[in-house]
Amino acid sequence: MITHPSSAEPARLPKPLPDETLYSLFARIHWLNDYGNARECCAMLLGDGERLRVADSRFDPVHFDSVTRGFYGGVRLILTKLTPTNFFQRLGTHPSVEIPHRLHPDDAVALAVSNGLATLSNGRAHLWRWCPSCLKRDQDTYGVAYWHRKHQLPGVVICCEHQTSLLETTLPYQARQQEFIMPGRLPGRARIKLVCSAGAPPTAMALAQFAEQILLDDAVEGSPESVQGALVDGLAEAGLVSRAGRIRKKAFVAEWKNLYADISELTEFAPPLNERCLPSLVEALNQHGWLLPATTTLMLANWLFGSWQLFKEHCRWRKVFLLTGVAEERQWSKVAANTPEDARKSHRDTCIEFLKSYPGATRKDFWATHPKSCRWLHTHDKEWLQRQLPTAHRSGVMQLELF
Ligand SMILES: [Zn+2]
Repeated sequence: MITHPSSAEPARLPKPLPDETLYSLFARIHWLNDYGNARECCAMLLGDGERLRVADSRFDPVHFDSVTRGFYGGVRLILTKLTPTNFFQRLGTHPSVEIPHRLHPDDAVALAVSNGLATLSNGRAHLWRWCPSCLKRDQDTYGVAYWHRKHQLPGVVICCEHQTSLLETTLPYQARQQEFIMPGRLPGRARIKLVCSAGAPPTAMALAQFAEQILLDDAVEGSPESVQGALVDGLAEAGLVSRAGRIRKKAFVAEWKNLYADISELTEFAPPLNERCLPSLVEALNQHGWLLPATTTLMLANWLFGSWQLFKEHCRWRKVFLLTGVAEERQWSKVAANTPEDARKSHRDTCIEFLKSYPGATRKDFWATHPKSCRWLHTHDKEWLQRQLPTAHRSGVMQLELF
């Protein structure tokens, strides 16, 4: 059955494909219902009848849920399953944030929606990415190549599944407002580029895995305040915050650049690693209420916590503090060590004391009783921690809860 754009509801609604973006789903609704004009299709589905654009159409999730008769599970599920909104929220940031010093948004979802279909769906208005191996697999399996959410995330230049560089294209304004564009159906003049010409550097791989874990975890919602609090704690525990509560600029820059040296040449990571931008990053971290770009936040969280699980736990912990009013002020002076070496000694001492008291304890037990020290050692002193508390060693002696 074929419907016309002037009718209120599309007759056929495809099921979302695994990890498919909202934009991609729109394109398939358009094709499945044989709408001739993509802009009119958008006007009908999105409720933005004024502008007649495709990529930059303003998206009204309530309208879309209504015309699709609730088929996609309601507004919340549409946003959480078909867009990277959760990813940005959990990092306490927003797709439109490209420079530090912006005030944080009151409502990340409302701001995301105001950005238009392409940005809401694919994270950016015109620069989209895909994995050639995923594309082939999708064409063979589903008969269509489509946009994956995980490939569009800021800071992701590698496909974790195939451990290969993503491809990217920058779509010209006119082209993206006229038609739906999919990875297997790019306009003839679209330029395609390898995002990561250096293969798959280890830190790029780690960032891609970290980002994917954030996207796929349904368990927790972050807030700008809890994320900032966690990052500040992480910096302090790494000995990078002075007793006066300021970032130790020289040490911060040296460690930051050293950790990410293997991806410093990639355009994706140029802003946070660029010499000219580093002073403003340090200054942003020194201020209260900053909102960093998602790529920078991801890099900080990966550096300071090493895994989404540990970062999430700390954000949750911070949230509890915020809710109970304990952490109104930064706690730097209480957790800051003088130098990274002081921090190392302090956390090692904590671990040694713990093992004296509980000789049969496991890594999990240490985490449960001393999460800060466990996290610090896991991130900054992994080999030493592995010697003291091998991850494979299990005794099940203790059952302690963090909260
Ligand atoms: Zn792939």
